[in-house]
Amino acid sequence: MDNVIKYENQNDDLGELRLAGVVRESIVDGPGLRFAIFCQGCPHDCEGCHNPKTHDFEGGYMCPVQRIMDAIDANPLLAGVTFSGGEPMCQPEAFLTIAKECKKRGLNIMCYTGYTYEELLEMTKTQPTIGELLSLLDYLVDGRFVLAERDLSLLFRGSRNQRYIDMNKTRETGEVALVKED
Ligand code: SF4
Repeated sequence: MDNVIKYENQNDDLGELRLAGVVRESIVDGPGLRFAIFCQGCPHDCEGCHNPKTHDFEGGYMCPVQRIMDAIDANPLLAGVTFSGGEPMCQPEAFLTIAKECKKRGLNIMCYTGYTYEELLEMTKTQPTIGELLSLLDYLVDGRFVLAERDLSLLFRGSRNQRYIDMNKTRETGEVALVKED
């Protein structure tokens, strides 16, 4: 993970994200070549978490969204962008802005969350931004990491309770649809 996009300008039209770091080219955070954004701050405290340094909501650094978009625009080979953390759903406004910008560029969006999809739907009642963000996602990996359910053979997720959800199909059918794995 690198943090070379650290930038001190606090006045940016697209707002800011509390960031742990980014991976500019990843093939392990979703399908195809992806830009992965690891936000800072997570409330779940899963035992065996792979990224404990991202838990502190005061940690990391504030990064202008524009700076992240500039880094994404620098790579024409990307298939999509992945939101990870930390807990992206704790910063829904910033990720909604990034999601809208990615859609303008034809990039697909994958999001990791420690909440279940059903918990997120419940949260949309008081936090409509989460609903808006969900409406722009192509893939969602949901649920906390559960050490007892850990399985290294799973595609793009760490424990068996987590689901790799096809959000386009889920919206189409009104029922949670999983990505078909070959
Ligand atoms: S949700 Fe993810 S980042 Fe947060 S504690 Fe669990 S495994 Fe770690």
